Amino acid sequence: MFRAMTDQTADIRIPLELLPADGRFGSGPSKVRVESLRALAETGTSYMGTSHRQKTVKDVVARARRGMAELLGLPDGYEVLLGNGGATAFWDIAGFRLVRDHSHHAVFGEFSSKFAQALEQAPHIATVTTDESAPGTHPVLTAQAGADAYALTQNETSTGVCMPVARPAGADPDALVLVDATSGAGGMHVDPAEFDVYYLSPQKALASDGGLWLAACSPRALERIDDLADRWCPASLDLLIARDNSVKDQTYNTPALATIFLLVEQVEWILGQGGLQWAAARTGESSGVLYDWADAHDLATPFVADPAMRSPVVVTIDLDERVDATALCAVLRANGVVDTDAYRKLGRNQIRVATFPAVTPDDVRHLTACLDYVIEQIAE
Ligand SMILES: *Cc1c(COP(=O)(O)O)cnc(C)c1O
Repeated sequence: MFRAMTDQTADIRIPLELLPADGRFGSGPSKVRVESLRALAETGTSYMGTSHRQKTVKDVVARARRGMAELLGLPDGYEVLLGNGGATAFWDIAGFRLVRDHSHHAVFGEFSSKFAQALEQAPHIATVTTDESAPGTHPVLTAQAGADAYALTQNETSTGVCMPVARPAGADPDALVLVDATSGAGGMHVDPAEFDVYYLSPQKALASDGGLWLAACSPRALERIDDLADRWCPASLDLLIARDNSVKDQTYNTPALATIFLLVEQVEWILGQGGLQWAAARTGESSGVLYDWADAHDLATPFVADPAMRSPVVVTIDLDERVDATALCAVLRANGVVDTDAYRKLGRNQIRVATFPAVTPDDVRHLTACLDYVIEQIAE
């Protein structure tokens, strides 16, 4: 039996020298660098509260699109589109203007399953098929006769499993590869030749706030949008309208200006540090610290058994039943180390830690010291 947080656990004070400089380890909304927040505040009267149809804001949108293209190394002919609603809205958007009538999905956790569900309920999509695997693993995506879109999730944020971004062998050459990169983009390598749409919400690996979706689209994906132009679609979910606005560095309706600004801050910061290669090395280092810690600890085990499937950006660690993960996270929170809780629906005695590029490897090392200290106190 797990014991509830007792008065003693509530009183545990982690020694100051063990604490990370920044205690935000959530998988989304995730740590936004204080430097980005300061830069936003410093815009004072020149940006927030000004028209999104004017140059000041359009210039920032242009930087967001250009920065994403540079970060991902997009070839000529690709476009970065954006609009309101986040990755969840993008699933519906994709159903209208990217999936013709049959989508095939890799389903291995909460987020990948939600996209499949959204399309199963869409009356304009005839067939939705899946390759599924148990939480903690990813399925191999097999080519399906007639599938015109394949749905991959680069990093399943709910379980800490990453999968390769690759066109399924044997897929129809005209089929689109749609990649949910919400928690992977900016922190993991990707080859643009392997996707047609690489979409994300910016409050995860890209250390901004929620409310927007961004999608890097290949020429083939841009063509598909035109091919499906005759299908009825609500204007707010219409990728054709989003595309026509995005290429003019604006959005169809008012976007969250702070979100765009913070995204640009993070993307340009990563580019300044050395781009995706630097970011991937950093998330690899940070996540490696945690996996090594769990491997070495008697009461902890990486949840994802296969090292090749272990995410470099969201680390999930199972705890022995002698350690109550809920109590552990509560003690950490009381000490300013927050959002290490497991994904609620997974229902495991687990912690989940984001090691996105904004998180420093040094803070992750401090986190392991905090974990050692608290586990020592609360283990039965
Ligand atoms: C968080 C998340 C989403 C949903 O993002 P919203 O901005 O809440 O719509 C989708 N996919 C993945 C992989 C995520 O991590």
